[in-house]
Parts: sequence; C-alpha cells; structure tokens
Amino acid sequence: MQRQGLTLGAYKGIRIGLDYSWFIMFVLVVFMLARYFFPQNYEGMPALEAWILSVLGALLFFVSILLHEFAHALAARKRNVEISEIILFIFGGLARMKKEPERASDEFVIAGAGPLCSLLLGGIFLGLSFILEPVLREGLHGVLWYVGYVNILLVLFNLVPGFPLDGGRMLRAALWHYSGNLRKSTRIVSSMGQIFAFVLMFTGVLVIFGGGLIVGVVWIFVGMFLLQSAKSGYYMVAMREGLSGIPVQKIMTTNPSTVHPDVSLRNLVNEYFFKNRFSCFPVMRRGEFVGLVEINQVKSVERDKWEFTRVSDIMTPREELGTVSPDTDAYDVLMQMIDAGRGRLPVLENDELVGIISRKDILQFVEFREALGT
Ligand SMILES: [Zn+2]
Repeated sequence: MQRQGLTLGAYKGIRIGLDYSWFIMFVLVVFMLARYFFPQNYEGMPALEAWILSVLGALLFFVSILLHEFAHALAARKRNVEISEIILFIFGGLARMKKEPERASDEFVIAGAGPLCSLLLGGIFLGLSFILEPVLREGLHGVLWYVGYVNILLVLFNLVPGFPLDGGRMLRAALWHYSGNLRKSTRIVSSMGQIFAFVLMFTGVLVIFGGGLIVGVVWIFVGMFLLQSAKSGYYMVAMREGLSGIPVQKIMTTNPSTVHPDVSLRNLVNEYFFKNRFSCFPVMRRGEFVGLVEINQVKSVERDKWEFTRVSDIMTPREELGTVSPDTDAYDVLMQMIDAGRGRLPVLENDELVGIISRKDILQFVEFREALGT
C-alpha cells in the first residue's frame, strides 16, 4: 500500500519496513518502562540507568514482534504463500501476504507460527532471567523478565479467537476446513473480532476514568484498528468470492478515450476532464500506450502553469504502472492495485491498450452481482 516509512532491510526477498507511526509506540514503551516499571520495581535505580535499560527493553520487545512476523512469513513461504513485506507500525507488526492462502490448512499453519514463536521467545527470556538472576545486575534481569513477560502477553492477545488476530485466523481455518464455507467462517470470526474490539475500547474508557490516560487511549486506538480490520477482512473474502473466475475484461472499460502527451494541462482540463467526465485518461503517442494521467495529478500543478505544462510532464509513465492482461482474474487485479496503492491500471493485450480497470469498477461489479443475487 502506501510505501511511507523506512526500509530496514530485506531478508530472502521480504522487505522489512518501519512505518513512521512505530516511533510513537516505541517512545511510549520506553517512557512507560523508565517512569513506571523500573522505578517501581527497582527502588533507588539511577534515572539514567533506568532510561538506558528501558531503551534496551523496548528494542528487544520490537525485535520479538519482528521475529513473530518472520515466523508467519517463513511459514507462509513453506506453504507457497507469497509475503511481500513485513511492516512494523504503531500497533505492532504485519506480515503482508500478496494473496490470502487458498487452503484452510495453510492458513492454520501460517497463523499459528507467530504465537508459537512468541511462546518460545517468552520461555527463553523468562528462563534466562531465572537462570541468570544470581549473576546479572538487577536492572538487566528486569529487562529479561519484562521481554519474556510481554512475549507471553503477545501470545495471549494474539490467540483471542477474533479476526484479524492470529487466533481468529486459526479458528477461521478450522471452521473453513470443517464447513467448506470460507465466507460463513469469516463472517463468524469477523463478528467475534468486532466484539473483542468493542471490549477493548470499552476497557480503554474505564482505564481512562481510572486515571490511566495514556494506556486507556492506546487501548481505544487498538480497538478501533481491530474493528476496522475485522470488517475489511470479511469484505475482502466477499470480494474474493464475488470475483472468483471473472476475467478483468468482463469488467474493464473498453476503448477508453485517450490523450496525446503533448496536450497542455489547460486543454486536458477543458477538453477532456470536463467534457468526458472521466477522472483518468490513458496517454497515447502514435498509437502506443505511454502512461496514465489522473485528475489529482493536475491539481498538484499551479493553475497559472497549466498553459505551459504538458500531459507528459505529470503523467505516470507506463514503466511505473504495472499492467494486466484481459484474462487476468479480477480478484488478482484488485490485489495488485491494493498492493501498489493504485486506483487504476491499464489493460494491455499484445502490447496494445485494450481497456482500463479501476478499483471502483471492480467494487461496483461485485455490488451489482450481490444486488442481483447472481
Ligand atoms: Zn501474528
């Protein structure tokens, strides 16, 4: 989707990204440790030492999350499900699949790998804190204990049987396996995920009234995020079913109006956007497709420069777009658009433009089919 944030690196073709929102959570965890955990458990610890240990504890916590996501990713790879990237963001981590697993057993194994990894990590850190207690400085022992403890909390949280949590995915896989109905199974775990999200938000409110403003707010936001994900999880399955076996040529706009790359923006606005009321035009030079120009790209150019700016100056060139062929599955195309963060893609056959497909077209298609019950 949006490629905002930092790239930490890549492992076996899987990009590891750090969304900027992650820093908020990192600072919050360090703050909580330094102001509450260490002062309350280790009286008399110098403030500087508490802050250093807190940074260490928070780093190990996020490494744990990264390893949890890697467990998902490697399990997915074993099962031939492609993972495009792992992202750390404000609410934790996400191993983004290019496509949802097609078999219940795959989903069960992939979802289960994360909590299993966290359980191992929790055991290792708690074990180390126990074994090394006599030889370690008190504070370091506290760090090990804390990281072990949060890993166990991660296991418990992730095993809540509501989508999109790992436990929800595992339950869905089980229901799907026994009923053969992916959509119904998803609806059940999505509802459970939504209930859990409301419980979290409600608890957050109670925590705020109890005086824990920051923690309460975090719970409310996590609840809101889960609610959204639970809803969209069901929605994506409905999409997948509504679109299965439908080639994109059934949905695309054929013979779209096109524009020459040398046309000025003023002309583009007056003669193309206003007259045709499309928000996007393929750009063609001597019968060859060279790019796409969209209305929001015009907006980024100041009005008094429209006369002298040409379509070719602002269009997205063909190389950056990614294309699809007419017989590609519409669901795959939708996934490709979501993955690339694009609203539209050109459809090409033998290097020739035959149509254009937008997310809106695909969603509308599914809506119509649902309305007609076909
Ligand atoms: Zn997980």
